[in-house]
Amino acid sequence: MGIGSFEHQTFAQRVVFGAGTAMTSLVTEADRLGARRVLLIATHAEAELADRLAGALPVSGRFHDVRPHVPAEVAEAARALAQEIEADLLVCIGGGSTTGTAKAVALTTGLPILAVPTTYAGSEATPVWGMTEARRKTTGTDPVVLPRVIVYDPELSVSLPTALAVASGLNAMAHCVDSLWAPRANPLLSAMATEGIRALAPALRGIVADAGDLDARAGCLYGAYLSASTFAGAGSGLHHKICHVLGGAYDLPHADTHAVVLPHVLAYNADDAPRAADRVAEALGAAESVAGLIDLYDDLAAPRALRDLGLREDQLEEATGLVVDAAPADNPRAVTAESIHRLLRRAWSGAAPLRAADDERNPS
Ligand code: NAD
Repeated sequence: MGIGSFEHQTFAQRVVFGAGTAMTSLVTEADRLGARRVLLIATHAEAELADRLAGALPVSGRFHDVRPHVPAEVAEAARALAQEIEADLLVCIGGGSTTGTAKAVALTTGLPILAVPTTYAGSEATPVWGMTEARRKTTGTDPVVLPRVIVYDPELSVSLPTALAVASGLNAMAHCVDSLWAPRANPLLSAMATEGIRALAPALRGIVADAGDLDARAGCLYGAYLSASTFAGAGSGLHHKICHVLGGAYDLPHADTHAVVLPHVLAYNADDAPRAADRVAEALGAAESVAGLIDLYDDLAAPRALRDLGLREDQLEEATGLVVDAAPADNPRAVTAESIHRLLRRAWSGAAPLRAADDERNPS
């Protein structure tokens, strides 16, 4: 059980955390970055909130045409506006799609980003960008898109409806779990991932019990930061590869897809990654990892079936091929077309996740 040898990359970023900080710290943080001409990015739905928070900032332009998965024409329109107003800072207020739009602008302009997240997706803590063109999602990693400053204010996510909060929090949980066996996993990242799981589970139960519980909202944001930092370091494991295929090829909703797939990937890998499984169990306060996660899903009334998200049964065959092609070579358990097809079919129908031993004994 030694620490062994590893490499660990850290990223320079400032984090400001606390209830009310979005109201009190944006001007100071924008000043630190020397901002004189801000491009404010938020969805139409969050436009009013963004205007309220950015009231004292030198806002020179507003971009509200945010869309999921950052279509290339949206990125181009936002970049053109940034250029037209001679922006020197991008301030994005919203979920992963909003942060993703700011990242797409930063990628081509080099402009710094100040991110104010209102979901638990975690994009603000990674140097990963994504864009969609002709229904194909391209992703890449570039330190220039990593927001210079994140302001985490639990008050902002209180308005996130419980079902969205649950899916988003399980998206964060998935970053943590997958980071335990992803290609660049290391002991430092595993420690952060474990703390993320430990924070997210009670916080999500807290939100389901009382949507206005600020401590629970803070727990989710804390977990979201830890989860995304571990994902940024460890890279995409089998779980993220599956969700990337499903989201990209079939346009499934991002957070719900992560929520549905996670227990199936945990069950798939648990027996071949016993240390990771023990960490998940310990962090969930459960005797065993898969059962512990299922208990959490029961408590949260979490989404369970890909068919409820729009995936058709006749797409499972094609999806299997895409996943097998994308799967990491060093996944703890061997990836075969047959076993992935069974995993996807169970995730599609909402069946219980299957451990490797049961899957191989009774492959139906
Ligand atoms: P989203 O940003 O699309 O938001 C989902 C919905 O929630 C939207 O309708 C939005 O208006 C609403 N919303 C957001 N905050 C709200 C609030 N506080 N109150 C009420 N409604 C609110 O979804 P998401 O799950 O946050 O982000 C998904 C996107 O982020 C995907 O495109 C995904 O690929 C990307 N992502 C990227 C990374 C990365 O590292 N690059 C990491 C995670 C997610």
